[in-house]
Amino acid sequence: MSAAVPSTEATQDTENLTDGFHLLIDALKLNGVETIYNVPGIPITDLGRYAQAQGLRVLSFRHEQHAGYAAAAAGFLTKKPGICMTVSAPGFLNGLTALAHATTNCWPMILISGSSEREIVDLQRGDYEEMDQLAIARPHCKAAYRILHAEDIGLGVARAIRAALTGRPGGVYLDIPGQLLGQVMDAVEGQKSLIEVVDPNPESVPSDEAIERALDVLKSAKKPLMIIGKGAAYAQADDKVRELVETLGIPYLPMSMAKGLLPDTHPLCASAARSLVLKESDCVFLVGARLNWLLSHGQGKAWGEKGAKKFVQIDIEPTEMDSNQKISAPLIGDIGSTATALLEAMGSNWQKPSEEWTGAVRSKVQGNIEKMAPRLRNNNSPMDYQGSLGVLKEIIAENPDTVLVNEGANALDQARSIIDIHKPRKRLDVGTWGIMGIGMGSAIAAAVETGNQVLAIEGDSAFGFCGMEVETICRYNLPVCIVIMNNNGIYRGDGTNWSGGEDPSTTVFVKGSRYDLMMQAFGGEGVTVDSPDDLRQAVNKAFETRKPTLINAVIAEDAGKESGNIGNLNPSSVVAQARYPQAKKI
Ligand code: ADP
Repeated sequence: MSAAVPSTEATQDTENLTDGFHLLIDALKLNGVETIYNVPGIPITDLGRYAQAQGLRVLSFRHEQHAGYAAAAAGFLTKKPGICMTVSAPGFLNGLTALAHATTNCWPMILISGSSEREIVDLQRGDYEEMDQLAIARPHCKAAYRILHAEDIGLGVARAIRAALTGRPGGVYLDIPGQLLGQVMDAVEGQKSLIEVVDPNPESVPSDEAIERALDVLKSAKKPLMIIGKGAAYAQADDKVRELVETLGIPYLPMSMAKGLLPDTHPLCASAARSLVLKESDCVFLVGARLNWLLSHGQGKAWGEKGAKKFVQIDIEPTEMDSNQKISAPLIGDIGSTATALLEAMGSNWQKPSEEWTGAVRSKVQGNIEKMAPRLRNNNSPMDYQGSLGVLKEIIAENPDTVLVNEGANALDQARSIIDIHKPRKRLDVGTWGIMGIGMGSAIAAAVETGNQVLAIEGDSAFGFCGMEVETICRYNLPVCIVIMNNNGIYRGDGTNWSGGEDPSTTVFVKGSRYDLMMQAFGGEGVTVDSPDDLRQAVNKAFETRKPTLINAVIAEDAGKESGNIGNLNPSSVVAQARYPQAKKI
């Protein structure tokens, strides 16, 4: 008998047994996990193979960080924990950035990493990839667990899933010492030890008193504004949020990943009048959005007169209240249930704000959109951001189910304000950290989880952090069209070396790089374009064929500004400015 074919005897011997590999896979399947974002290696190579054999979709990446970003994005898109699986120490550390990113963004994700043997690691005897991964993970996620015994796998997975989902969602680390996978136990006992998590997202409704208080504040406001954040997009209470906005009748600002929850073309959308509404409003109603740096902590010149605004906030996390400004009416609950309770209490005679306020916002919006329109229609070659993104704006309007992935500095800031999103959860970007390199992982997760066409608009610098994953995109033949906004450098491509030396400036890349050839190398479509008309043609072709495509879009070197819209966050000093007069010119 050939060695590859197990003998009947061996089959009978193991028939009533199970092992750590199978229990882990069964526990994940029992809890609805369908996809694992993976990088194989010791000790989890076979775990990936067996998971695939058992019907899970296991997608292998080229680097753990991108498998992790994919899992994080999957968590946001599906409201279920995205699963990333890595090898020990270095692979774990690569995945940890993504786990921290998921936690920072309040997205559910579980990082499952193989680890070395406890007996050796704990005595620091120098094991293969020795590292106390559990201790290192803990500060970077919502919860961290280690499973030592096969009979505890059901418990460990259930704890991880509940911790990732319940309350404010976040990242969870699950440590799997290699030996655990090989542990064998009775199959029936093993099955009995598995736990299907019941109601990990319990409804949470604020008290009647809290609802009344919030409505009183909103009622007394003359110029109310709603800010809708990605927590509301995550909550998947799309109809309720829309009904709340329309019944209250107040202008709203969507944060970048909440764009499309209501279409950006909605008459109450105030995105094109952002400065006006932030400054002039007298009451701000935060719905799944934090008053963090992205909203300049609710203070400063952009927010108008100090102390002139009242804040109402819906959030699942009680400690979010008063974290930056006094919250006059906290609503602690999930967005769907809280919106429902508010709508019920508002009844049918809710007094909407005056036309004086909503009309002023609307006319500012219309004026700004009209002012911008001709710039978006230019056909300059090489392109600028307006001409190229103007084309992509039209393509997204024609294909509103497309998931837009977006990262970079200028490529991010400009695309966010120029491109309207028309449906919920159709925009994935750099999130709360403003992290670069999420592009390819997010694009892969978007294609896998939704089956929709993906358009990834990438700064040439941002793409550099994740470019090797184009091979992954080609391997799984995903409908991802990547547009690299190539202006030859970070922020701009015309930087010079201030020492006068031969090395290029710290912020420039090889001029005229052909990123499209990277895609061709793996069998995808690659093309270079330098005019908006050609860009339109290339993207339309990619959408028709649904083939992996990379479009190297040549942008003028001097298009773009230092650090995009957040140049003000760069430190400076009088000494530096005196020494480097060039710095002032940027
Ligand atoms: P943005 O960056 O879009 O402003 P943030 O990530 O800052 O959004 O805020 C999202 C907020 O949404 C977090 O404070 C989080 O606790 C909250 N959140 C997440 N899910 C829910 C939910 N289902 N119901 C209520 N709040 C939620």
